[in-house]
Amino acid sequence: MALVLTEEQQLLRDTATQFFQERLPIANLRKLRDTKDATGFDRAIWKEMSDLGFAGIMISEKYGGTDFGPVGLGLVLEQAGRTLAASPLVSTVLLCGSAVQLAGNATQRQDILSAIAAGDRIMALALEEGPHHNPTRIATRAEASGQAFRISGKKTFVLDGHVADQLIVAARTSGNENDRAGITLFLVDPKSEGVKITRTLMVDSRNAADISFDNVSVPATAVLGSVDGGIDVLEQVLDIARIGISAEMLGLVQEVFDTTLAYLKERKQFGKVIGSFQALQHRMAVLFAEIELCRSVVLDALSALEARRNDVPLIASLAKARLSDTATLMTNEGLQMHGGMGMTDQFDVGLFMKRARVATASFGDGNFHRDRYASLEGY
Ligand SMILES: Cc1cc2nc3c(=O)[nH]c(=O)nc-3n(C[C@H](O)[C@H](O)[C@H](O)COP(=O)(O)OP(=O)(O)OC[C@H]3O[C@@H](n4cnc5c(N)ncnc54)[C@H](O)[C@@H]3O)c2cc1C
Repeated sequence: MALVLTEEQQLLRDTATQFFQERLPIANLRKLRDTKDATGFDRAIWKEMSDLGFAGIMISEKYGGTDFGPVGLGLVLEQAGRTLAASPLVSTVLLCGSAVQLAGNATQRQDILSAIAAGDRIMALALEEGPHHNPTRIATRAEASGQAFRISGKKTFVLDGHVADQLIVAARTSGNENDRAGITLFLVDPKSEGVKITRTLMVDSRNAADISFDNVSVPATAVLGSVDGGIDVLEQVLDIARIGISAEMLGLVQEVFDTTLAYLKERKQFGKVIGSFQALQHRMAVLFAEIELCRSVVLDALSALEARRNDVPLIASLAKARLSDTATLMTNEGLQMHGGMGMTDQFDVGLFMKRARVATASFGDGNFHRDRYASLEGY
């Protein structure tokens, strides 16, 4: 497969670049942070993004989406990464939109996908229960009772969980914590009796929530996919999210590289610009090569999703491991090369470092994905 973009994809990338630079520049994230904004993203701008087709980019035209596919979404996420744009793209589009596309019945698809594409519904996936990514570590239980289920348990790091109009909750309908089988996905109204939501502010100024479920009753029609078969859907959804967030991190590392390079050409020490010192040139050359590798891996991963290749799990782990490692290296180096100024809030590089740390920990870090890659390859 050629690792190049079509003319249509280039046009989409240019639209996204202009949109994020004009409507969601880094100043927007600073404002959300400084005002301790209760939502954590700008709802009016999310509506604009939906009108541009970004919310429905992976959703079929039948439901009002633009059906641009994974490569299209990756291009948008990459540009969002360059300006640290906060939006529900990950929670609503990557995670929940994908889950409904993969597992939803006709009624659920019609209702939810059309609402997501229109920008009218924010959704959140309540999955994690511990401090590290572990999709099978699920103790939350859903007990069948007549035509309904009763959910009890606690979830953490629920992205955009404090403002979601609808939740997808992974709960155990059989088996024990860490079993692959026995997980079921449920659509839950966050206003249901027994749901308690506590917002948690993340280091990257984005949002997450701790959510507890105390005997929350949901009808049998709230099951998304099959009872006990949720892990198959979750794994596909998580791979889409891992690849999507890798695309966002690609934009992030490229932006830090570009701004650091500009700083090296401007900052003077000993009467010369610091970019003329070979010690720094070598370090930038290493970073340049890393980014080239990342770009190829991300585009291949997005293409694997688009072509529904059967190596998606492998390439998703490869992409997330590479991008997590490179984002850590790039932001460490970028901050170091900005010297003392890099430590200050006056410069943006520290904000990129914080986003890189959260994105790295989301859906498995480099160690998680090296281990998964090895397991998938039979080591
Ligand atoms: C938390 C913190 C607290 C501080 N507190 C104080 C304080 O109390 N008092 C005070 O006076 N200062 C303080 N500083 C400033 C600190 O001393 C300087 O940040 C430090 O000396 C580096 O200088 P600089 O920031 O000007 O970086 P620069 O000299 O601009 O260096 C930028 C980058 O270029 C590299 N570089 C520079 N020259 C060369 C060269 N010749 N060859 C190769 N690479 C080179 C550096 O390694 C770095 O990666 C503080 C800094 C921090 C981060």
